[in-house]
Amino acid sequence: MHASRNEVVYLDNNATTRIAPEVFEAMVPFLTEHYGNPSSAYSFGKRVEGHLKEAREKVAGLLGATPKEIIFTSCGTESDNAAIWSALQTTGKKHIVTTQVEHSAIMNQTDWLEKNGYGVTRLPVAADGTLKIEDVEKAIRDDTAIVSIMWANNETGVLFPVEEIASLCRKKGVLFHTDAVQTPGKIDLRGVAKSDIDFLSMSGHKLHAPKGVGVLYVKRRTKILPYVIGGGQERGKRGGTENVASIMGLGRASELALERLTDEQTRVRVLRDRFEDALLEKLPDLYINGKRNQRLPNTSNIAFDFVEAEAILMMLDKNGICASSGSACTTGSLDPSHVLSAMGLTPARARSCVRFSFSHYNSDADIDYALQVIPPMIEKLRAMSPLSANHPDNFNYDVEAAREKEEKLMAQTMAAINE
Ligand SMILES: *Cc1c(COP(=O)(O)O)cnc(C)c1O
Repeated sequence: MHASRNEVVYLDNNATTRIAPEVFEAMVPFLTEHYGNPSSAYSFGKRVEGHLKEAREKVAGLLGATPKEIIFTSCGTESDNAAIWSALQTTGKKHIVTTQVEHSAIMNQTDWLEKNGYGVTRLPVAADGTLKIEDVEKAIRDDTAIVSIMWANNETGVLFPVEEIASLCRKKGVLFHTDAVQTPGKIDLRGVAKSDIDFLSMSGHKLHAPKGVGVLYVKRRTKILPYVIGGGQERGKRGGTENVASIMGLGRASELALERLTDEQTRVRVLRDRFEDALLEKLPDLYINGKRNQRLPNTSNIAFDFVEAEAILMMLDKNGICASSGSACTTGSLDPSHVLSAMGLTPARARSCVRFSFSHYNSDADIDYALQVIPPMIEKLRAMSPLSANHPDNFNYDVEAAREKEEKLMAQTMAAINE
């Protein structure tokens, strides 16, 4: 069965993306006839190695880098973990500087390191999600091994000035890593190789390539120790037989990301801005997280005061729209997003936030449909919400009482939706 792309209106492109048809096409021969091991001595395998080289060149092109600076990994998470781990090993130092708003790949790894004897400084962000460069400078110590700061936030799209931060780190003699998983195809990365960035992570499934393949860019002359230890693959920098088909897909996806950069920065940006403007016009008590000119062109993170994001997502789902709340609500916990909390949103407002993230494959019709569905849906949910009578300022009430009230509200809303 071949799923139609119009089965859902997919507005969750920061979570994952559809595989581009061109990418799929580039992969197929490597899932069928070209199954040789690229490390084999005979030509049937060697041929595959030649194709891997082409894919590596294409990925390098995205960063203005050379193929030798590209290491293929199993995912963005592995790339993130590998960069931090390698920096700790090669420097022998025990302190890491990062932010309070990183993806769980960095956040949970640094949590683990902290519990195991390493020092971690997590820099705060301002209400608009931005970071002060002076804070980075102040946080660097003599025993700092690496500074790891994401390029674009996955929940809000807020961008950090990582090239500037990288220069600062270089001056201080500290390694710099950036989790750039959200950026390819959305912003121009071709200056990376000329910057002072030592390590950069990307992930296939965020740029219309498959899940389960990632990239770690390592600047020429920056030392790297393998995180996955095994055979001599990836020039001894990452063991394990290459995920050939996915790497071929990622090569093609990198070309497409460059070709579509203008579309993403103009047409997709216009779709996103129209979506935000229309919602702001149609609904009161709406707040958009992060300033427009400091965000990725494809991301909207919106607070719908007085309503639980989980209720909104359920109703969106019923209408065939995919979006997400940034928070890790999978376990049914109502903990608000760590990113929105760091920006100073009250727990109640943070729990009302929904992330919409667009891509090349979204059309004006998708936006029209979402704009037709969302305003009446929010009005309906607000009409059911006992919080609506309150002013947003009243959200600073006792957390426990608020939690209880919200849990009750959630149960009621879910019951009403499921009627
Ligand atoms: C998705 C994502 C990751 C993780 O990538 P995987 O390939 O899913 O492991 C890391 N960082 C950010 C910012 C992401 O959005």
